[in-house]
Amino acid sequence: MADAGSDHYNNSHRAFLQAFLARSVLTFEEAQPILAAILTAHEGRPTLPADITTADFQSYLSALNTALSPLDLEIRSTLSQHADRTRVYALVNATSDPQTQLATTHSADEIAFVKRVLDAMFETNNTASAEVMAVAGMQALRLCKPAGARQSGANGQTLGGASGGLTMGQAEAVLAGMVEEGWFEKSRAGYYSLSPRALMELRGWLVETYNEPGEEGESEDEEGGERERIKFCQACREIVTMGQRCSNRSCKCRLHDVCTQRFFRDQPARKCPLCKADWTGKDFVGERAAKGGDQGRRSTTSGPSRRTTMDVEESDEEG
Ligand SMILES: [Zn+2]
Ligand SMILES: [Zn+2]
Repeated sequence: MADAGSDHYNNSHRAFLQAFLARSVLTFEEAQPILAAILTAHEGRPTLPADITTADFQSYLSALNTALSPLDLEIRSTLSQHADRTRVYALVNATSDPQTQLATTHSADEIAFVKRVLDAMFETNNTASAEVMAVAGMQALRLCKPAGARQSGANGQTLGGASGGLTMGQAEAVLAGMVEEGWFEKSRAGYYSLSPRALMELRGWLVETYNEPGEEGESEDEEGGERERIKFCQACREIVTMGQRCSNRSCKCRLHDVCTQRFFRDQPARKCPLCKADWTGKDFVGERAAKGGDQGRRSTTSGPSRRTTMDVEESDEEG
């Protein structure tokens, strides 16, 4: 592949960038046929998807990132939080907040609605006792009007007034659009959560918005202990919005489902790496925390179970 000239930015890089612009995320497996087609066209000799190696892919990514960095754009990657742990790549705005991101395609009322949904994910539904970090469809629709304006006009026209909110129907369309545009994922149970791409893109903004600065560590009190609403996996250091948490409610250790397997491979006793409490595998982050409530604690009465929750996660893969 060295003769593909991937060190110099050329038409094949432009074509590959186009593929990123056209899609919300790409996996290596999805990039292979795209790069093969580009190289076939560019070099005039047939290249098969299987000929594209990870090294080729990385070399294209690095050439693109060099070209993109003056524009504050970057191709980043993250692992999906679902059981498959697929690595996904996306072209993201390196200095990103949702208001700016959505400004060109959405109205002020729509953006305000999305912000209310995000607040529901990361504040209302993200408490010390239940870190759901997702919003059920009906709860999201009820946020169509700003707080205080919910009485007015059930199906009324809001005529673009910046404070009137949306109708239920408009809110539903915005939610569908957010899924379509790759910002939200919708689970089978109907919960909306942030997609891997959104987590990549909004990482800095989420921390800035939902984590209160100051006091590192210790969140002693149950109610006021929500200073660090966005938490990172102890194993892979990425944000956890679905996964597992320490059974000790005041401990901030979180792990993705798949990361627990690797993390506890050499430690069958499964103790929290931070506070040494038993790691139950039944204290959840994500929509399972909503379904289960404090299930983790109650179910200890029926005896300890080694069952992992992978089956639950697998059924959710498509989001
Ligand atoms: Zn992890
Ligand atoms: Zn702990």
